Amino acid sequence: MRRGTAAVRGFRLLDPYGSLQPPIYQTALFRMEGEALKSDRGFDLKYSREENPTLRPLEEALATLEDGVDALVFNSGMAALSSVFFSLLNADATVLTTMEAYGTTLRLLSSLGRFGVKLRKTYPSTETYIEGLKSGRPTVAFVETITNPLLHVLDIPEVVKTAKDLGSVVVVDNTFATPVLIQPISHGADVVVHSTSKYIAGHNDVIGGVAVVSSRAMLEELWVWRAMLGGIMQPFEAFLTLRGLKTLFVRFEYQCKSAKAIAEFLAEHSKVAEVIYPGLPTHPDHGVAKKLFGDKFGAVVSFRVKGGRDAVFKFFKSLKLVTPGPSLGGVESIATYPVASAASPIPEEDRKILGITEDLVRLSVGLEDVDDLIEDLDQALNA
Ligand code: PLP
Repeated sequence: MRRGTAAVRGFRLLDPYGSLQPPIYQTALFRMEGEALKSDRGFDLKYSREENPTLRPLEEALATLEDGVDALVFNSGMAALSSVFFSLLNADATVLTTMEAYGTTLRLLSSLGRFGVKLRKTYPSTETYIEGLKSGRPTVAFVETITNPLLHVLDIPEVVKTAKDLGSVVVVDNTFATPVLIQPISHGADVVVHSTSKYIAGHNDVIGGVAVVSSRAMLEELWVWRAMLGGIMQPFEAFLTLRGLKTLFVRFEYQCKSAKAIAEFLAEHSKVAEVIYPGLPTHPDHGVAKKLFGDKFGAVVSFRVKGGRDAVFKFFKSLKLVTPGPSLGGVESIATYPVASAASPIPEEDRKILGITEDLVRLSVGLEDVDDLIEDLDQALNA
């Protein structure tokens, strides 16, 4: 089964009535007349904080799309990430991350310092990250496939190979690239995480997360942590997320195409100082992105507005179609101010090194007609 088909039909239908759509088991508990019943994958089916059959079609489809052995869905991307880190780390463990990553992930990793976990950060380039790996084997090597907000693309196969040779566990956040562009487990990664609130669900109406694992042993360990930390996805959210997932491929391909057209338009705009998009030859990681992703480069475009913070605020206020706000990956286009949202937990000195400045805007390109989006951006920049 090809990946586009797996997004639509990559799960077994376990319903006895032949329903085309998986049923929602909106229940807190399951009957227990002695021993618990087992779910299709052999876990106890007792209580919906541990296992609920509504989640299984979504987990199966996501595991197939990401070349994993199985998957666990959570009530947010952060619930997935925190459960994964708790399951892998102990006091004396070290995590290596890029200094640019989703701000709350970085805040979580540095907060784990109070339990003895050490955090090391490198500049988000393949060379510096690999140097970081070699300068002291981390317990966990963590990377995002496309970083947020400056859209760096590390050479995942190279990074994973080095990390695995050293004996690190590799965790990849594939939220921005999605399995449409890359499947890190097929390159040797151990765990892939997504904020399914973004492209997987895709409609700006549901928060969720997933961890796709590459072994049964990891699944069993993480299943226990999901139950202990209590971050399992709720049944209706799972229903909505699976419904969204079915259109991932058509949505994402269209959004990537529009994003490229918008990046090219902005690159010529007199009010724009710089456009940052891996699909443009001016991006430092364009070559790596082309090698890994082919002709699609994601659907987020970042750019710097001439005139700094005041000009950016005027731009946000003048938008008529695009919504100013946090988040990304949905059908509606969203313009974000990274210094006040996703990147705000990144320490000031790191932001300086990275170039996350007050003139920076991150645009998540949705499914509106690209000409309407370009007209709206143009009038707001000229306002
Ligand atoms: N990872 C990335 C790359 C993100 O952009 C986000 C959220 O913006 C998260 C993880 C966290 O996901 P959630 O907001 O679903 O908890």
